[in-house]
Amino acid sequence: MEIKIIDKELKNTINVEFNYKVKSGEIDFKNEKVIFGVGEKNKITNKSIKKILPVLLNFVKNLKKDITFDLRDFDESLSSYIFYYLIFSEVKIKDLKSDKEEKEEKDIYLLVKNKQLPALVKTSFVGDSINYVRELSLLPGNIATPLYISEEAKKLSKKFDLKYEELNFNEMEELGLNALLSVARGSYNEPVMPILKYSVKNAKKTILVVGKGITFDTGGISLKPSKGMEEMKYDKCGAITVLGIMKTIAEMEPKINVIGVMPLCENMPSGNASRPGDVVTAYNGKSIEILNTDAEGRMILADALAYGIEKYKPDYVFDLATLTGACSVALGSTYIALLGNNQEFIDLVNNNSKNSFDQVWQLPLTEEFNDMMKSKFADIKNISDTGDAGTITGAAFLSFFVGETKWIHLDIASTAYVKGNGPTGAGLSVVVESILNLEKKK
Ligand SMILES: [Zn+2]
Repeated sequence: MEIKIIDKELKNTINVEFNYKVKSGEIDFKNEKVIFGVGEKNKITNKSIKKILPVLLNFVKNLKKDITFDLRDFDESLSSYIFYYLIFSEVKIKDLKSDKEEKEEKDIYLLVKNKQLPALVKTSFVGDSINYVRELSLLPGNIATPLYISEEAKKLSKKFDLKYEELNFNEMEELGLNALLSVARGSYNEPVMPILKYSVKNAKKTILVVGKGITFDTGGISLKPSKGMEEMKYDKCGAITVLGIMKTIAEMEPKINVIGVMPLCENMPSGNASRPGDVVTAYNGKSIEILNTDAEGRMILADALAYGIEKYKPDYVFDLATLTGACSVALGSTYIALLGNNQEFIDLVNNNSKNSFDQVWQLPLTEEFNDMMKSKFADIKNISDTGDAGTITGAAFLSFFVGETKWIHLDIASTAYVKGNGPTGAGLSVVVESILNLEKKK
C-alpha cells in the first residue's frame, strides 16, 4: 500500500470525511463516501484518534477502490499523527517469509492544505526511518551480526553523504575499550563500532547519539532463562535506532553536526567470556567489577560514551538502549524512561516529545543512586546489591562515563518492541525532534 499526499480532490477514490458531529468511531457509508465520527472537535487528541483509527482502517480495507482521507480540517499535529499511524500500521515492513504475498493493494491519498505540508514531510521522513529501523531490528542474530550492521551503516554513508569511521577489535584493544571488549570476547563474531558523521559548515553545535547494539544477548555466563530468549535479538534496537536517526537527519539536513556511534557485539557464554567477579578498566580509566554478565549493555555504552565524548567534544549527548527489564516494571510499554544530568536539557527533550510520536517520562537521577554502584574491590560495579530502582542505577552507572557533558539516557527496554509482535522504532522520533530544536536553540 502506498500513501500519497495530494492537495486537490481526486475522482475515482472513496472519500473519507472526518466528522465532529457523529459519535467517535461510528461509520456512515453512502454514495461512495465514508463519514467517520471522531467526536467533539476540541476534545480530539492523538491518543483518542489512535483508539478509533483501527475501526476505520478495517472498514476501508474491504472497499474495492483507492481511498482519500480528507485531513484538511485537522491541525498539523493531528494530521501528522494520522499520517504516521498509517505509515506505521499500513506500510508492510519486510520479513523473512519465503512466500511473499503480493496482494493487489489499494493506495491511500491524504488530502491536505498547503500549510500542513511541512509537518507532513517531516512525518514522512520520520515514519519511513522508523519502518527502516523496524525492518533491521527484526533480523535475527545469525543474520544481523555486528559486521552486517556495520555494512548497513556503510551503505547509509554512501547513499546520504555521511562520513563513515569504525573501530575494529584490534583498535579497541589498543585504545583500551576494555569494558566493551569484556562483553565481546565470549563471541565468535567480532565486535565493531561504526560511527556515522553528519556535518555542516559553520554548525554551532554538535550532538552525539550513542546506541546499544547487542546483536544477541544470551546474558553471557549469567545466562538468561531460555523462555522468550529469542527476543533478545532486539537488544540491538538502540544502535539500529541510531542508524535510523542518522538517516532522518541526512534527509532533513538541519544546520547542526550529528555523530552516531554504534557499539556492536554479541553477549555469549564461552571459555573466553567474562566471569562474575572479573574486574576491567574502562576507556576512561574507571575500574568496573562485573557482578552480572547480563548487565552488559552498560559496559559497551560506558566505553562508547567516554570515547565519543572525548573524541568529538559534543555539546549534547543522547544514548538509546534496551537497558533494563526494570523499565517495564516502572513504566510499562507506554513510556520511554528518560534520565539525564542537566534539567534544562531534560525539559527541552520532555517538551519536544509532545511533538513527537514517542512518550517519555523522567525518572530521578541523584547522588544516592551513584552510591549504590560503588564497589568494594573496584571503582564501581555493574549492578547494585539490591537490584532496587534498576532503571535508575543503570543510568547512574552510565553517568560515571559521561562527566559534565549535557547528557540524556533513554531506556527503551520496554518500548523498543512489543512482546511477541516485533520492533517499534521507539526513541527515533523524540531524538530527531530534539535535534531539530537544538539546532534553533541559542
Ligand atoms: Zn543483558
